[in-house]
This record gives sequence, structure tokens and C-alpha cells, in this order.
Amino acid sequence: MSEGEGIDIQAPYDPGNIFARILRGEIPGDRVHEDDDFIAFRDIAPQAPHHIVLIPRGEPPTSPAGIDASWEPLGGRMLRVAAAIARAQGLERSGYRLVLNCGPDAGQTVPHLHLHILGGAPLGPLA
Ligand code: AMP
Repeated sequence: MSEGEGIDIQAPYDPGNIFARILRGEIPGDRVHEDDDFIAFRDIAPQAPHHIVLIPRGEPPTSPAGIDASWEPLGGRMLRVAAAIARAQGLERSGYRLVLNCGPDAGQTVPHLHLHILGGAPLGPLA
């Protein structure tokens, strides 16, 4: 089986990654949410009418594979914030999809843990 395109999740955190630069305000992001732990912004290449990316502040694991016990509280909060953002976007009744990509076969391109929030139309099968 061949490996997909994408990042090396074993690599150390790269503070030059695009989401780190959005966090530092070096690159503009169309922000829809900010709190002490997270920011969320509209994806630059939306895959659905609503496509928002939710990211932790600071230097989180590069992918879901790096989540250890110390991240459990923030991981739970991340899901709660994602649901609140979806609600604020009016997606609660119609529904939405939350996606965490991990590594090459998932096509992960940015090495900063992030959760996609997709909705606003029927999304079709998962793959
Ligand atoms: P992933 O493929 O899971 O690593 O997701 C990375 C996402 O970041 C992709 O959906 C990209 O379209 C999105 N993206 C890349 N650069 C930017 C940017 N400058 N602003 C907003 N979203 C971006």
C-alpha cells in the first residue's frame, strides 16, 4: 500500500507552519471564534458551504497522534467549542461533520492539531 501525500507527524513542531502564523497574526485569518485556548477561522479552500478550522493556541501536538493524557481536558473542550461554533453558525439542526486528519493517508497538510467543522449542505459519504 502506498502512503498518501501529507506531513510527517513524527517531526517536531514547526513554529513556521501556516496555522502558527495565523495565530501570531502574521497571516490574516477570517476568524469566527477566539477564546483563551482556541481560535477558529474559515478555511481558505472550503469543502462545504461552512468550512471552519478550529485550532488550539500555542504549540499543540502536530496531529491527533500526539495527544497524550495531558491533552485530555483540552481535547474535550475542543469538541465542546466546535459544537458551540457550529451552533453559532446555525448548523445545529441541519447537522455538520467534525474531521481530524492525521498524517499522510488522511491528507493532513498543516502540522498543527486542528479540527475541521463542515456543514451547510448534505456532505455525502465519509470517503
Ligand atoms: P489538513 O488537510 O487537515 O491539514 O487541513 C489544512 C487546511 O488548512 C486545509 O483545508 C486548507 O485549505 C487550510 N488552509 C491552508 N492555509 C490556510 C489559510 N491561510 N487560511 C485558512 N485555511 C487554510
